[in-house]
Amino acid sequence: MPAANALRAVLAFPSTYAVGITSLGYQVVWATLAQRSDLDVRRLFTDQGDPPHAGQRGGQRSGQRGWGPDLDLFGLSLSWELDGPVLLDLLEQQRIPLWSHQRGEDDPLVFGGGPVLTANPEPLAPFLDVVLLGDGELLLPAFVDAVAASRDAPRQQRLRALAQVPGVYVPSLYTPHYDAAGALLRVDPSDAGIPATVAKQTWRGNTLSHSTVITPEAAWPSIHLVEVVRSCPELCRFCLASYLTLPFRSASLDDGLIPAVEKGLGATQRLGLLGASVTQHPQFDDLLGWLDQDRFEGVRLSVSSVRAATVTPELGRILAKRGSKSLTIAIESGSERLRRVVNKKLDTEAIFAAARHARDGGLSSLKLYGMAGLPSEDPADVDATAQLLLALKKATPGLRLSLGVSTFVPKAHTPFQWEGVRPEADKRLKHLAKLLKPKGIDVRPESYAWSVIQALISRSDRRLAPVIAAARGRHDSLGGWKQAYRAVLAGERPEATPPSLPDPPAWEEVVHSTWSEGRRLPWDHLEGPLPKATLAGHRREALTQATP
Ligand code: SF4
Repeated sequence: MPAANALRAVLAFPSTYAVGITSLGYQVVWATLAQRSDLDVRRLFTDQGDPPHAGQRGGQRSGQRGWGPDLDLFGLSLSWELDGPVLLDLLEQQRIPLWSHQRGEDDPLVFGGGPVLTANPEPLAPFLDVVLLGDGELLLPAFVDAVAASRDAPRQQRLRALAQVPGVYVPSLYTPHYDAAGALLRVDPSDAGIPATVAKQTWRGNTLSHSTVITPEAAWPSIHLVEVVRSCPELCRFCLASYLTLPFRSASLDDGLIPAVEKGLGATQRLGLLGASVTQHPQFDDLLGWLDQDRFEGVRLSVSSVRAATVTPELGRILAKRGSKSLTIAIESGSERLRRVVNKKLDTEAIFAAARHARDGGLSSLKLYGMAGLPSEDPADVDATAQLLLALKKATPGLRLSLGVSTFVPKAHTPFQWEGVRPEADKRLKHLAKLLKPKGIDVRPESYAWSVIQALISRSDRRLAPVIAAARGRHDSLGGWKQAYRAVLAGERPEATPPSLPDPPAWEEVVHSTWSEGRRLPWDHLEGPLPKATLAGHRREALTQATP
């Protein structure tokens, strides 16, 4: 129960209630904040929100009135680049000034977190007062304590105090410098009292997160989600889920996972095991054996994508027995050469074995994930993917196959951060669909246009902020983004754009160019788990595999 003088906070999600409440990350942040008596926190989604704080003006079931003027904190959890512009809509709806430089003493502190902002917050930095880099378990308590301790101080002093908390990044206290040609030279702290770099924070406890809300209104109705592992030890060279969250951590079986599963199964019969690589939990077989007990009859179990090489006959059998119909594996490519380039460590026989185990265990379908446009990919690699799928279909009759295929997008803090999006990926996605659909394989290509927008947001610096503001209302189409980009380059600045922000660099340069390793990156002042030199080493090692 919040105390009478509790700080008033809103935690927003840039999508509907059904999507937001299915996000384990969002649920955990909310639960962490909601258990504090010094914080009165409400949830806000694009279609609804919790009722207003006691004694406040306005209703909120459809967001028609804002809480903004009465708030101390407004937070946003962001897990998908394309949701970034929704932040501005939510701020406007709450009557909070969009740009951080417009906010005064009575405005809330606007903070953000989640994987997108931890990887590269710079494009949205001019709209945010604070960015939390890393795991909420560590960051949130320290952040809220610091906010509470400085609540009566002037805004600028509060921001300076927050900048001292490990993992808390205050963008307005850092200034980017560019050369005459627009290349980023460096990002400096405003003065010697502000840390020169901010390091991402890593939770190392033996418990990981699980659902705190189980509702039929979620996108996955009434499911209890349990995080089994965090990060992935495989280090596929493009993979943000691995590189950004290192080191690989697993929840303790007896003190973490089993109590979390038992608790959830007291409320629902649907269980989802989550993590970048759940089957790599060192005791995954024990967990599976435990879930095989007769007392779990009727429980519906699903697991997120698993490494093909870890699929066992037991996994296929127990998933089928517990109501799953399908299994998902990521192969990236049918070409062994390209899998070596991306460090996939997966031979073709392991893919066939996974398909056999899935079918023999009683599952009816296998979903495979692949990518087009990976560095060094050539047309023969794309054909190899099609051939692999056709051979799998022949080898495992009765198993329905589907291929989800996306365009490679470079992500900050991964070895492929220097690689651009390859325009030929668009045609290659279509080519795969053309080859496989007539043969009865369901191909689901992800929109190439969305991948381009993702890359724009994942590789840009603060100079993209006016484009994000200008793209509002048209940010779900590539044409809308291109128009907004052109408008900003032509001098049409959205209202209140900070005059100190130079024009963005050419679109082609941000999205499609391969950058040199010596280039200053927009996120170089933010420390991820591995140093830049290590990432560069992994990239070079990858590219030496490019020629057989
Ligand atoms: S196995 Fe999957 S989760 Fe692990 S690094 Fe590779 S792509 Fe990422």
